[in-house]
Amino acid sequence: MAFGATIAVPRPLRRAAGAAGQALRAALDLALPPLCAACREPVHGTGLCAACWSKLSFISRPYCERLGIPFVYDPGPGILSMEAIADPPAYNRARAAVRFDEVSRALVHALKYGDRLDLAPLLGRWIGQAGRELLAEADALVPVPLHWRRLWARRFNQSAQLAAAIATESGVPVAPGALKRVKATAQQVGLSRAARASNVQGAFRVPETGKALVTGRRLILIDDVLTSGATLEACARALLRGGAANVDVLVFARVADPARTSI
Ligand SMILES: [Zn+2]
Repeated sequence: MAFGATIAVPRPLRRAAGAAGQALRAALDLALPPLCAACREPVHGTGLCAACWSKLSFISRPYCERLGIPFVYDPGPGILSMEAIADPPAYNRARAAVRFDEVSRALVHALKYGDRLDLAPLLGRWIGQAGRELLAEADALVPVPLHWRRLWARRFNQSAQLAAAIATESGVPVAPGALKRVKATAQQVGLSRAARASNVQGAFRVPETGKALVTGRRLILIDDVLTSGATLEACARALLRGGAANVDVLVFARVADPARTSI
């Protein structure tokens, strides 16, 4: 065990230390140029340097209208991928801003673990563009919730940060408290597809206090990354059980092998 790991710091002291840290960081921000979130080179403005920016892989049509997975060639309007037909998700449509690759992974990690919350407005803008059609029909945004223990350890929920940025961008409000993570689940990283699904089974629920935010409403689930889709699937099922009229999905990055078409 790390030395000092169990020493409890009194709350006022912790707050003072946090404030001092913030002041120090603000001073450093003035003195040093911001760094590229992916490669750590100094950049002008926030976000990415020109080289990393050019490597980002934005997703655009043609893609499967249901899953949002890009097609290698255009099969014509409204065609669904084989994946969407063989194994349709509980949610209606999914859209992502970019493919999950080296650069987008670095951005997600910077937001999630590197305390680069300043990236949220930029990512929110890109997500908003990718989800314009979905947002036009939506009543509210629902960030994928963290279990309170993980939220407490990490201090913020990256999905909620993204949802707030998308709300600012689109005018579609966030519905906090619409969905609750009632089971602390193991990290999905490193699990097989089947294990991911059973890991999050029954992990989400619409609490009594969230019913009014869900019943009869068109909702968009917000998350940073869509990998197997198991977490978003579990969330969508919970919202639909809670009476949602429609559930779509919007993420920053998705794992996207080119989709096979149905023909
Ligand atoms: Zn860079």
